[in-house]
Amino acid sequence: MILGDYHTHTVYSHGKGSVLENAIVAKEKGLKEIAITDHGFSHIAFNLKRSKLKDLRRDIDEAMEKTGVKIYLGVEANLMNYDGDVDITEEDLKTLEVVVMGFHKGIKNGIKSFFGFSMGNILADYFKCHSKKRIEKNTQSYIKAVEKYPIDIISHLNLTAKVDVKRVAEACARTNTHIELNGKRIHFNEEEVKAMLETDVKFVISSDAHTPDRVGDDTLGMQVATMYNIPLERIVNINDLIKIKSKG
Ligand SMILES: [Zn+2]
Ligand SMILES: [Zn+2]
Repeated sequence: MILGDYHTHTVYSHGKGSVLENAIVAKEKGLKEIAITDHGFSHIAFNLKRSKLKDLRRDIDEAMEKTGVKIYLGVEANLMNYDGDVDITEEDLKTLEVVVMGFHKGIKNGIKSFFGFSMGNILADYFKCHSKKRIEKNTQSYIKAVEKYPIDIISHLNLTAKVDVKRVAEACARTNTHIELNGKRIHFNEEEVKAMLETDVKFVISSDAHTPDRVGDDTLGMQVATMYNIPLERIVNINDLIKIKSKG
């Protein structure tokens, strides 16, 4: 049902398949376009390396030629701190065509942010004790990030780093940033979805595939949409393609 899958991984981070393998599955499943969004540059173990961007560009061009599927060169960038900094530079944006951004464990973000922002959120999530103060700081951070960077999609919002989803959704609506319904995990409850639907935010379903066979997998995303009554017209990539920011 989705026509574009804008969140897929390859061997350029810790995915198992190549760009071509992802593209072949996309073609088989009738997708018009996909994005290769390997983990961003600050991830300690699974990062896409800036030195590999040229190889990635070449692989993408080859796979597009072989399959006819449009493939965007993207990244799944990392939220770095409470200031809403993201690990992409102006220089990176000359190469990147799609920016997906989310909170991830295991990033290199300096001692202060590592203990305050990263570990603070990881421990709060582990012990299920998200303080109001931390939720507010996370919310501010996401809002600043979508205001500062041309982010196309926020991946798995509210997973580990809890936020006031309605206020983040309002900022996303203002900045034309999509909120993802992730294909691997459910990261919103019914009340949160209801709150987001009161804003003008648009959603996308993505697979977050780490193996080629999962490219285009919209099963969980559709289940969440049905379970929480998300009108299908609010999910942009069902029967349509999203407007990528880098393409104006
Ligand atoms: Zn992720
Ligand atoms: Zn991912």
